[in-house]
Amino acid sequence: MAILVTGGAGYIGSHAARTLRREGYEVIIFDNLSTGFRRLAEGFELVEGDIGDEAALKPALARVDAVMHFAAAAYVGESVENPRKYFHNNGLAALQLLNATLDAGIRRFIFSSTCAVYGVPDKVPITEKTPREPVNPYGASKLFFENALEAYSRAYKLSSVRLRYFNASGADESGEIGELHNPETHLVPLALEATTAKGRELQIFGDDYPTADGTCIRDYIHVSDLAEAHVRALQYLEKLPDEKRGDSLALNLGSGRGYSVMEVMQAAEKAIGQPVRRKMGPRRQGDPPALVADPAKAKSILGWTAKRSLDEIVSSAWQWMQKSSSSK
Ligand code: UDP
Repeated sequence: MAILVTGGAGYIGSHAARTLRREGYEVIIFDNLSTGFRRLAEGFELVEGDIGDEAALKPALARVDAVMHFAAAAYVGESVENPRKYFHNNGLAALQLLNATLDAGIRRFIFSSTCAVYGVPDKVPITEKTPREPVNPYGASKLFFENALEAYSRAYKLSSVRLRYFNASGADESGEIGELHNPETHLVPLALEATTAKGRELQIFGDDYPTADGTCIRDYIHVSDLAEAHVRALQYLEKLPDEKRGDSLALNLGSGRGYSVMEVMQAAEKAIGQPVRRKMGPRRQGDPPALVADPAKAKSILGWTAKRSLDEIVSSAWQWMQKSSSSK
């Protein structure tokens, strides 16, 4: 079975591509390399193209049985400054991909969604029934596509899974690939960088939140656990009985355990044996105090749970950072 992985030269897509291949799937990566990296797609067939470009998509789609769609713009702050880019890439271009997928006769689609569709929830943990009220254009653009996918699924018998990730972090155990963002804005790599003499100091975005130590709580999920969930989701679609064709399943992917910014820094210090150089800063606009998944639905439907701990997240990310900086 062959899968088209859009955004397969990006952080999460490149991990999913490897996990798919390890499970025996044939993988074609489709990426315009605007934020992806050729080195993350190394060893795979890479079709360079834009998801909004039907002519580029058509020959690739003709060769696959399912689509996993990761390609997206994914900076919350940038989405506030430049919503046009977000609704274009994550809305319009993504819809063109979905139309081309249908036209190619493909009826299985897995979408990389986000807990940002929930906005600032009234309570945690967050279940899939928590109202979806995004508070920034990034979350709104992902919700737009979720809504389109749900409607298309029902109308055109396109079976789909919408996977809502919490905080993806860590790196593949092989050390071959890991988190690469330019600019880097995520806590785990920035905390690790702040343990080194050359790295920037970490700025903590507020310690006056209504949490035990005053810093924000997030649910950090190892990228390899996420990648495995995608394979399970695909297997779920493969086995879907005829009467369920056209279902669109939404699942939270998180560990169900929240950690504060302070706790992440402590995990980094424990792994490396050096202090995280830090300074206290103001709150970052739009950061909810706590986001933690209720992952029960993914467990009951896919038989999936997060296996890797925060310590494994931090140590695998560190291993990758050392390797990638030495090969720059
Ligand atoms: N954070 C921080 N300093 C940074 C980056 C992040 O204090 O330089 C905090 C941020 O406020 C949030 C948590 O770390 O509470 C995770 O942020 P990240 O950007 O990694 O992911 P997000 O939750 O925004 O998707």
